[in-house]
Amino acid sequence: MSQTRFDKVLIANRGEIASRVMRTARRLGIGTVAVYSDADAHALHVREADEAVHIGPAAARESYLNMEAVLKAARRTAASAIHPGYGFLSENAAFVEACAQAGVTFIGPPATAISAMGDKSAAKARMQHAGVPLVPGYHGNDQGDDVLKAEADKIGYPVLLKASAGGGGKGMRVVESAAGFQSALDGCRRESQAAFGDQRMLVEKYLIRPRHVEVQVFCDTHGNGVYLFERDCSVQRRHQKVLEEAPAPGMTAELRREMGEAAVRAAKEIGYVGAGTVEFLLDFSQEHDGSFYFMEMNTRLQVEHPVTEMITGQDLVEWQLRVAMGEPLPCSQDELTISGHSFEARLYAEDPEQDFLPATGTLERFALDLEGASLDPTRVRLDSGVETGDVVSMHYDPMLAKLIVHGDDRNQALATLNRALAALDVRGVVTNRAFLQRLAGHPAFQAAQLDTRFIENHQEALF
Ligand code: ADP
Repeated sequence: MSQTRFDKVLIANRGEIASRVMRTARRLGIGTVAVYSDADAHALHVREADEAVHIGPAAARESYLNMEAVLKAARRTAASAIHPGYGFLSENAAFVEACAQAGVTFIGPPATAISAMGDKSAAKARMQHAGVPLVPGYHGNDQGDDVLKAEADKIGYPVLLKASAGGGGKGMRVVESAAGFQSALDGCRRESQAAFGDQRMLVEKYLIRPRHVEVQVFCDTHGNGVYLFERDCSVQRRHQKVLEEAPAPGMTAELRREMGEAAVRAAKEIGYVGAGTVEFLLDFSQEHDGSFYFMEMNTRLQVEHPVTEMITGQDLVEWQLRVAMGEPLPCSQDELTISGHSFEARLYAEDPEQDFLPATGTLERFALDLEGASLDPTRVRLDSGVETGDVVSMHYDPMLAKLIVHGDDRNQALATLNRALAALDVRGVVTNRAFLQRLAGHPAFQAAQLDTRFIENHQEALF
């Protein structure tokens, strides 16, 4: 594959990720083009870019999701590559193809790799072929009610019904016993039909207290693939990650290598290129000590990629740009090591007192005074999409910023996280900061007693 250095990249996104991608592009001497909707005319990512192009009204489907408008902006500014960030067009195979047609480099995997992971049943079949461990279950084509029921009986209750075409937790139900199976199946099919226009289901063993542990992988166009270790993202609210950390507590070197190698196998199976994340459920309950199971692969840069950057010292956006230019991966597996521990807390404009209703307003102040709080600037990073004076609207994802910290070990990193959260000064818009402080300060979190129901299990202390 030929190497083509691009001198200008368009970032088809907004908020903190647009700013974050631009930061690396600037450092590498690559020009930056922002795109924006009516609602974002004065947004931080627009102010920071070398050039900015208006692409449509506030509604995302008419602006940030509008392929035509984004490609037109790239043509107009002669940007030779598009970085999609996460969300929006980042996992849209049709957009990848449209970029190729327009002669613009899409910074991400080939369309075929995105499609291979888009359907849960098909993805599981591919992963089985690659020797990646799966949650015990059924992902076959025979979708008769009695077939699914017989499979559920065989797996043993509780089982989880999942829409093959699903995402965002939709079309998913836990079935506690055989008696409740049929009504759960009917409900899931209805939901899946409404959301995805598809009724196919898969059945999985429902794991009782799994952890969400995901592996960062990277592949280039020369056949190289590496893993940059794992992140624990077990602390979730309604399947939304809230606090993430790397490395995952309690991992042995052997388990880390096994999961890492399985993740690279998964990526290679589908001809992956670029940054990807393979999500696993990790079961540390007595009978399954350290068993891990493939859940899905996210074919983009993740929100939580900075914790991996903090412990490896690598810049993943730089890796993405280099791979997209046809260069080989900057490091081999042997050259990658873990140093210390990192946490990320997601700061949302939302009100924990009102069932996490998204909040809006003008940020009278948005600041993190590192010096005043005696925080080491090499250990604290604030990836923000906003500044003092900015207006937070209701049009987009309510995540304002990510606070990322590093320490020599988990305790030190956690202490820094707590101090940095306390030092964050946000006025004018309600945020989840106090909720994050209660989470980070919870004794069970300090003791790394993690599982995907952490928040549910500690309701009284957290709300
Ligand atoms: P979606 O694509 O809708 O987000 P996932 O398959 O990624 O659905 O699952 C979302 C979440 O549901 C996971 O992060 C995990 O917390 C939980 N989950 C998924 N599969 C299982 C399972 N077999 N057992 C227990 N929990 C599960």
